[in-house]
Amino acid sequence: MSLAVTGAALPGERDPIGLRAEHGVIVELGPDVRPQPEDDAIDVAGALLVPPLINGHTHAAMTLFRGHGDDLPLMRWLQEEIWPIERRLEPEDVYWGTRLACLEMVRSGTVRFWDMYWHPEAAARAVSDAGMRATVAAPLIDAQGGSETMREAALRSLDELAAGAGGPGGDRVDVGLAPHAIYTVTEESLHWIAELSAERGLPVHIHLSETEPEVSDCLTAHGIRPAVYLDRVGLLSPRTVLAHGVWLDDAELELIAARGAVVVTNPVANLKLAVGQVFPYPRARAAGVQVGLGTDGPGSNNSLDLFGDMKVLALVQKHEARDPAIISAEETWEIATGRRAPLLGGGRRLAVGQPADFLLLRAAAPELSFGELPAALVYAASGAVVQSTVVAGRVLMRAGEVEGSEEVLARALERARRLGLAPALA
Ligand SMILES: [Zn+2]
Repeated sequence: MSLAVTGAALPGERDPIGLRAEHGVIVELGPDVRPQPEDDAIDVAGALLVPPLINGHTHAAMTLFRGHGDDLPLMRWLQEEIWPIERRLEPEDVYWGTRLACLEMVRSGTVRFWDMYWHPEAAARAVSDAGMRATVAAPLIDAQGGSETMREAALRSLDELAAGAGGPGGDRVDVGLAPHAIYTVTEESLHWIAELSAERGLPVHIHLSETEPEVSDCLTAHGIRPAVYLDRVGLLSPRTVLAHGVWLDDAELELIAARGAVVVTNPVANLKLAVGQVFPYPRARAAGVQVGLGTDGPGSNNSLDLFGDMKVLALVQKHEARDPAIISAEETWEIATGRRAPLLGGGRRLAVGQPADFLLLRAAAPELSFGELPAALVYAASGAVVQSTVVAGRVLMRAGEVEGSEEVLARALERARRLGLAPALA
């Protein structure tokens, strides 16, 4: 499979350039690229060639829950609206919910995401069929009992995911371990997960320090703060992705930086759930923490368009610091493309030998027509500026069209109805 893109524009360069990809890798990039006879050839008429976005934290299949139980406090939302329905989830619900999420992400320029949700083997299949990349993991929870069952299910799920990895697109899906949070998993199981992660080299994806009660409860139960506790159980490592980190203090940020773990900030979800504080980004940066950007689940954001989260990230940090220079558009774009956290699996430069993952942005988009590109991307644009999305040399969205999108919408709607989740327009 080979692809040739011609007539593209690189930010800051006058002459049109082309790109060829073979077997998912960029093999040519420059002004003299010509399509070969066997190529899937597209002339993009001046579209801007840029790296794609990486969503570092979500629960993709929760697209089915979008708009359900909004405007409730977190625990009431979970206990009354989400958990009772999640108990009835079938793998096909997760498959079509994840396909719907993939459709939205492809349309708005995200090519890779970190997912934590039930039936991860169904999510993996959805990612693979959608042509995207992801690290998938089942949430692990045993604070109310059932540690043995949880561990058996976790191992079984890893086996199932490993079996699926040999299938088509399997190389685009990585498998992780996702202890839900320090307050939903027992200390003993956190140790067990740390050992399993070290033994098999599996990444760990966990919520940490999202709310203030999480910190005070940890201090009461263990006498130490959440990141220190996580380190004590062996779960702070260069394989760890921490979602949120809103309430981390300086010593915790330094510890996280020293251990090489990543913090993924989810500013929109934090604001919507009113967690009471802003992620201390300037202090995290000063400590040398690797930072990525996430949407969190579509039930608590509610959008998967990472352009929106990018803008909010920059704005809340400026507002909080009372300093418009505290974070630049360029830095925000780097965070959203994974440049500041290589573990997330993006952030590579567009160059020969690199994976052929990229976006083509509409040359005629009014939002991109003037001024510096990073500022236009972060402050003016939305995902609607994305014209084409390419992953591993395959065009997933071509001039605004994603193949099979009607079926994905129809099937996801069927699954939502089955769960009693009324669609907005029906
Ligand atoms: Zn989450």
